[in-house]
Amino acid sequence: MVSLVTRQIILSFDAFGSLTPQEIGGHFLFGYVVALPTRNLKMGVLSGLMALTIDADHLLNAVGFDIQARMGHSVSFAILSSVLIGLMVSQIFRKISVWNEMMSTESSSGKKKKTKAYSKSVHNSPLAPEKKDIFALYLTITLAAFISHIAYDVFVNAGASFPLLAPLIFSDFFIPQIYALPIEAAAILLVYLWYTLLSERSI
Ligand SMILES: [Zn+2]
Repeated sequence: MVSLVTRQIILSFDAFGSLTPQEIGGHFLFGYVVALPTRNLKMGVLSGLMALTIDADHLLNAVGFDIQARMGHSVSFAILSSVLIGLMVSQIFRKISVWNEMMSTESSSGKKKKTKAYSKSVHNSPLAPEKKDIFALYLTITLAAFISHIAYDVFVNAGASFPLLAPLIFSDFFIPQIYALPIEAAAILLVYLWYTLLSERSI
């Protein structure tokens, strides 16, 4: 029992050993910077945290899951997580706005009735344009956070290579260090283009 606990501690310590405070700060900073065109502090923090979580596969390996090393550094993971987070957040926003509408219109009726009407209106309401924009925003931010993560990995490591096409092909692709800042710039540009496109549309 005691030895198992010790083993766990050593393993998780090892996992954090591969992620130094400098790396944590670096990933967060690179993630934060790509969200700057949105001029939204919360977006920056979110993007920074997402950039950081891509290295979470180290932690999963440490607690015993046998996960292909650095599986998070693949294009399929980036696309999958972007779509999932986009869908998840737009769903949450939709529920919150429906809920708020409910609270303001029928504040006197009972709780049971409220819940029923709430779920009904969620299922009936079509995806409004602004909800699609929320989906696009979070998809873009997640994608940019992923790109910023790769950029920082390349920035600090001269021999950085990634299983970009996992799980289709498990061979690593080498990215030369000089591409670090251009990759980061591409992520900022992606967010900037999305942001200007959207604000032009809403005028
Ligand atoms: Zn990484």
